[in-house]
Amino acid sequence: MIKINNLSKIFRTELIETHALRAIDLHVKEGEFVALTGPSGSGKSTLLNVIGTLESFDQGQYLLDGHSVQGLSDKALSALRNEKIGFIFQGFNLIKDFSLFDNIELPLRYRGMNSAERKRRVEQALETVGLAARRDYHPSQLSGGQQQRVAIARAIAGEPRILLADEPTGNLDSLMARQVMELLEKINQQGCTILMVTHDPDQARRAGRHVQIVDGQLNDATVYEPLTPGNQPLSAGA
Ligand code: ADP
Ligand code: MG
Repeated sequence: MIKINNLSKIFRTELIETHALRAIDLHVKEGEFVALTGPSGSGKSTLLNVIGTLESFDQGQYLLDGHSVQGLSDKALSALRNEKIGFIFQGFNLIKDFSLFDNIELPLRYRGMNSAERKRRVEQALETVGLAARRDYHPSQLSGGQQQRVAIARAIAGEPRILLADEPTGNLDSLMARQVMELLEKINQQGCTILMVTHDPDQARRAGRHVQIVDGQLNDATVYEPLTPGNQPLSAGA
């Protein structure tokens, strides 16, 4: 599903060049749950953003479902993101003046979806994250863990095939972090491929696969846990 070969990314400013990603090779199959760890500044967010087509790259190749993303127009990239990719960030990124329902619905509006379909998806997503009863609440009325679950609902309402999560539990205490992790595992079991940046070694162990990045270089001495229904790739196809 995701095939990255020899990919490099350099941030250039007037004064310095930062080699954020160096010759990255990473293949992710449909249905995998991959945890990405590494020190601060090692390139984790950059890699996630490149995979999410939010960020361009300088060298190498990135195939998403067998198609190169290079050379696509901004419009084509944004259509691709809309169709295939959901994002979750450390800071939730919810709109505070919107209800939970409206927060989850907004990206579906951007996609031009009709209101009946939007309603169906938002209600289903709220159900999945266990917040159906609070659809009219505002984010400020929720705990951090609940807010992150709203952000997850917003991401999955788009029915993405890939979920990219950048330290989704970074702002949460350990109990809430565990609930968010369990929710992500449930979403993965329903077939969504997940790439998650985390600082938490326990989470990294729980993921089906753990890759580390140091100084822009990926150490893909992939450690596969014994396959369980939860982390088994759903299909052999990449
Ligand atoms: P991580 O998420 O692992 O903490 P990042 O991917 O955010 O690391 O950053 C990797 C490196 O790229 C760092 O040295 C960072 O300072 C640099 N970097 C990230 N984004 C930018 C940017 N927009 N402009 C210049 N340098 C950047
Ligand atoms: Mg980061």
